[in-house]
This record gives sequence, structure tokens and C-alpha cells, in this order.
Amino acid sequence: MSRDDSPLVRDASPETGYTSVHRAFLQSFLTHNVMTVDEIKPVLAHIITASNPDRPYMEGDVTQPQITSTIQTLNARITPFDLEIRSTRDQHSKALTYALVNNASDALTQLATKFSPAEIAYIRRLLDCMFDTNNTPTRETMALKQNEASALARASRRNRQSQVHSADGEEAADPGISMQDAETVLEDLVNAGFLRKSQHGFYSLAPRALMELRAYLKETYNEAADDTEDGVEVMRIRDCEGCRELMTHGIRCDKRECGVRWHDQCANNFYRGKTVENRKCPKCRTVCSGKVFVGERAVTKGGSTGAGTASGRRSTQSRREEEEEDEEEDDDEGEEDEEE
Ligand SMILES: [Zn+2]
Ligand SMILES: [Zn+2]
Repeated sequence: MSRDDSPLVRDASPETGYTSVHRAFLQSFLTHNVMTVDEIKPVLAHIITASNPDRPYMEGDVTQPQITSTIQTLNARITPFDLEIRSTRDQHSKALTYALVNNASDALTQLATKFSPAEIAYIRRLLDCMFDTNNTPTRETMALKQNEASALARASRRNRQSQVHSADGEEAADPGISMQDAETVLEDLVNAGFLRKSQHGFYSLAPRALMELRAYLKETYNEAADDTEDGVEVMRIRDCEGCRELMTHGIRCDKRECGVRWHDQCANNFYRGKTVENRKCPKCRTVCSGKVFVGERAVTKGGSTGAGTASGRRSTQSRREEEEEDEEEDDDEGEEDEEE
């Protein structure tokens, strides 16, 4: 028996392998909701040590296969309760991130237990801004700045006519919320791992929200051809061509009409070893410059397709600085790739 699995099977139930370690680990997920591998390791080491103090476990002793198998056993146990621990790679840090997801209802429904109807309506306005207003065919920002988030606190005239649904099903006009309440909601969402706030001050969806809202976002913001007035399909949210996870931060095909999107790392993996002119899109064969961004870089680095208008107004100096920044980032990503 290997050191890896011995502590986990000590008090295992014969059929499921579920132990006090799994139970304690689930408890910590109920507290944290979202954890990266680096956060999981010390927690799991501590739990395993507590279950068998004679054989202390260190953070470094916890292996990825051990985490995977612990979560598999746990998932088998919690699936009947519509709960599941899912994983995804953080689009920014690239860290493998796990979240406890409720499969019975979408995250907005669950948030309704924590936030008031007016606050939920505010959260919906934030999502509309991210995935509709700030997500056009030429500029897929999918994020919003602090001032935009504040401006959405008050329901617009259009929104004011819309209804909010209170917990008991009663409908009322959406009164909006105060700027201060909006700030608190944003802070709560960042702390809960739903929103990410970037160095440049952009709010975007964090891994937990991408995992929990995946179905909701596609249903809300993508429209099948049958459902649109002109019979043309609208795809505001797409999956990465490499990992097939939801894509809100990365690059897109240089051809505006093409639906190919990539996380930076997934594009690097796919195009690795190819010369620049051979980095052809797998769908439309357009050469991929890697400079047409999805996410806040569509604003901070001018990632709109077929443009030149936005960047044309900027000085050569600032453009040169941005290009240098790009190269630095590319280097970083190259190094991380090598580790995999
Ligand atoms: Zn990907
Ligand atoms: Zn393409």
C-alpha cells in the first residue's frame, strides 16, 4: 500500500471509500466554496494528519492524483444532493481551481438567499453590461470598470419599468440600490470568488462564476438562429478552441466573422513550434496574430478587429510600450508552458 492512499482508506466505508477525511474536506469546501490546488494542499495535509496523528502529513506530501481521487470519492457521495466539486483553470493565473457547485439551480437563484431582490437585479445589470453592452463583435471586453459598475446601481429608466421578483413571488418596480450598497455587493462578490477585480480596475467573472453560471450565461446571451429577428445566430459567449471551457479572457481569431477563441495558454499549446505565418486558425485558416484580445485587454491594449481607429489616436510611444508589455507577457506564458 502506498503512502498516498493509506491514510485515506483507514476508516473507509467498504463500498464508497468515504472517510472522515472526505467529510472534513467537504466541510472546508462549504466554508471556502472555491479553492486552488495550492490552497487545497495544506488543508488536506492538516485533515489527513488529524485523522492519523501518528503519521503527520506535510503540504508537500499531497499529490495531484490524491486530490483528484479525494474529490472523485466526495463527488460520488454528494451528487445525490445536486452538489459537485468542479475544476477549471483560472484564465488569468492559470491555477487549477476547484469550486463546490450546486447543480440544482443556477448561481443567481442561490445568490437570492444572500442578496435582496433589488441587489439581484443589480447583479443582473452587471452581467448584462459585461456580456451585452461591453461585448460587441468588434470589442469583446466581457468586463466592466468601477465607474460603470457604480453607474448601474440606480436602475435606468428602461430597467425601472422592469420588475423585480421578491422571494414570495410578488412583483415590484425595480428601485435600484444606493451607490454604497452597490459597492458592498461588488465587494461581497469579489470575496465570494464570483468576481475578479483586475489591476486596471476591471470587474470580470472569476472561475467560480464561470463554473456555476456556464449554462445560464449561454442561455441568456447566446441566441439560436430561430430566436433572432433576422434569423442569424448570435454567439456572445464561446468556448475556448483548446480546452472547451468558457472563454472570457484570451485571444480570438483575427477574422472577425470566425468563432475561434483561445485562452492564451491554449493558443500557445496549439501553435507551439509553428512559425508566425504558419499559425493558421483551425477553422478559417487565417493567420493568428495573437493580438486580437478578448477580455479587458480588448480595451487596455486595443484588441478590436479590423480597427486601427482606436489605436490610431494613441501616440507611437504608448503603442510601443504596449507592444513591449505584450512581449513580456508572451515570455511569461512561454515559461509557464514549459513546466506543463
Ligand atoms: Zn482554453
Ligand atoms: Zn478563424
